[in-house]
Amino acid sequence: MRTPALPALLPGATLGMLGGGQLGRMFTLAARVMGYRVVVLDPDPDSPAGQLADIHLKGDYTAAATLLHMGQLCDAISTEWENVPSLTLEILAKHCRVHPSPAAVAVAQDRLLEKTRARECGLTTAPFANIEDQSDLVSAWAQIGGPALLKTRRLGYDGKGQVLIGNLDDLVSAYAQLGNVPCLLEGFLPLAQEVSVVLARGASGEIAFYPLAENRHLRGILDLSAVPARVPAALVTEACNLAANLAHGLDYVGVLAVEFFVLKDGQLVFNEMAPRPHNSGHYTLDACVTDQFQQQVRALAGLPLGDTRLVSPCVMVNLLGDIWQPEPHWDRLLKHPGVQLHLYGKREARPGRKMGHYTVLADNLNTALAIAEQTRADLGIS
Ligand code: AMP
Repeated sequence: MRTPALPALLPGATLGMLGGGQLGRMFTLAARVMGYRVVVLDPDPDSPAGQLADIHLKGDYTAAATLLHMGQLCDAISTEWENVPSLTLEILAKHCRVHPSPAAVAVAQDRLLEKTRARECGLTTAPFANIEDQSDLVSAWAQIGGPALLKTRRLGYDGKGQVLIGNLDDLVSAYAQLGNVPCLLEGFLPLAQEVSVVLARGASGEIAFYPLAENRHLRGILDLSAVPARVPAALVTEACNLAANLAHGLDYVGVLAVEFFVLKDGQLVFNEMAPRPHNSGHYTLDACVTDQFQQQVRALAGLPLGDTRLVSPCVMVNLLGDIWQPEPHWDRLLKHPGVQLHLYGKREARPGRKMGHYTVLADNLNTALAIAEQTRADLGIS
């Protein structure tokens, strides 16, 4: 299925962003550099993207009057968070272009829909059982067994809303602990690596892939991405083909991130997708010809997609609020000439809060990794 392409929205047009966090901020920067006007909707008066937008609407995502105003101001609208109510996107779509579509975002909001759709598109997932309510616990345990992960179907991110399960008693108490909400029980897999594909798909179905990123998580939160991922070329091709199947299957328009597990036997298993630029694609800001936010602007505006070529091996390191006591020693980081620092303009640092990131560019990935590890230690990242 193909969406007929609309005429491109050229610089000077107004682009809207639902959500004013760091992803919205980097979109806003890219759009303004390219000459677009940007409207951000976020209730926080000091949101990272609102600080930089032409117009910051400080309303609620469900307020009809605010949505009408935004729809009238904008020529096209996208979102920086997948949990935006799909009704919000549907209302806005009556006024202007909305990419990705409300239907595609709805799939990404619910782990059951997401994994079911991924399987329909030919991707392999971990074995899972749906738990609608308490009456499903015993049969889910019988189907999946342990070790397993109990994950809330909605609103889980950065490892939140998931618990490791060893036996049925664990499952019963963890389900109550997660609030008796719909969940998936997922088989715990022997992971060798985690990788992600970030791609952009235009309205006529063309796809541009970024180089595969190899990701390391700490306490469920992305810690570091290394690019190009240290995997066989055939695995890169397979990951891109599978991600493309999903993007085509959803008739997706915009930037899409697809996260995979690489198992010890080399098998690629779909984990989840994000209907937006992704933390594991932040390296593109410094290491690719066109970064993922410029690409988001291009896809939203209906422009040709940009060149995704990697111009240097790169490591991206996340900066969480844990190291703000009160402010990290940036001089220890910036003494390295190949380091680029990105801070998101968040006033309050909290443990686990993403405050910024930095990239290390070097002639080869091993050197970049060595500098990344040394600078992490220098900044006190444990
Ligand atoms: P998620 O929120 O689903 O992305 O999970 C957060 C992290 O938990 C992943 O990046 C993995 O490191 C780990 N994880 C999630 N699901 C599984 C699984 N089925 N088996 C093993 N590890 C997992």
